[in-house]
Amino acid sequence: MSRPVLRSASLPRRRRLSGAVIVALAVGALAVLVAAGPALGVEPASGVAPSIKVEPAPARIVRHGPRSRPVVALTFDDCRDREAVLALVRALRQEGVPATFFPYGYAVRRSPDLWVAVAAAGFPIGNHTLSHPDLVPLAEGTVRYEFRAWRRIVEPIIGAVAIPYARPPYGAFNATTARAAGKEGYAALVLWDIDTRDWARPSAAVIAERAGRGTNGSIILMHCGPRQTVNALPAIIAGYRARGFGFVTIPELIEGTGLRLGEGRVQPVDGRRIDLRGRPIAL
Ligand SMILES: [Zn+2]
Repeated sequence: MSRPVLRSASLPRRRRLSGAVIVALAVGALAVLVAAGPALGVEPASGVAPSIKVEPAPARIVRHGPRSRPVVALTFDDCRDREAVLALVRALRQEGVPATFFPYGYAVRRSPDLWVAVAAAGFPIGNHTLSHPDLVPLAEGTVRYEFRAWRRIVEPIIGAVAIPYARPPYGAFNATTARAAGKEGYAALVLWDIDTRDWARPSAAVIAERAGRGTNGSIILMHCGPRQTVNALPAIIAGYRARGFGFVTIPELIEGTGLRLGEGRVQPVDGRRIDLRGRPIAL
């Protein structure tokens, strides 16, 4: 007696469930067909782009870090002068002060042992292009090459993935520069808000005074080269410490801005240390 009643009650539900399963299977099959369209010879309607590729975001422009913390980031560019790099790194280590270096690619290639030592000492090394051109008039492909070629030289030497931050030579950039940097994996183009103009070789006192104008989150631009910059360093460090400031690297500063750091931490990978002329130097 009860059987037919049960059947009649349960059948519609079973049918509804089956219907839902069929719809789900159909949707799934359609998704597979769409995903595998080209492989299956399924052509999209003419004029409809099949691509759903997402372009990487252009690199952001960063001139300083958050203004909420009393820290500054010392940065040193170009670095063709081996002795100047050594003197700066030794002085920074002696004071226990972190800093970030932006050498251009050919400068690193000239002194691979030096850059092994700089990276091993924990100083982040950022992309300053292969040959230090003004990037603004260059085509996107050429800009991408400048960033990519830098990585191909620097990363095997330092035995690590370099930080995902680039600094355009002369601080010159446009939309093409930012787009090219983004496509090469760079989260930010790192400029500065404090320029010492030390390349013009004013006195150490002038460099120290200019460098000391920073505030919370400032990025200070200097160069490895002028002897005056090396001589100014103790006064710069002492000045900020007297004002209660600390020092951070560019990755540490920029993490506070919400930019992703990616895999940019310096991590020694001995197997990738190649292209060395002789033994790595001691600092
Ligand atoms: Zn430069």
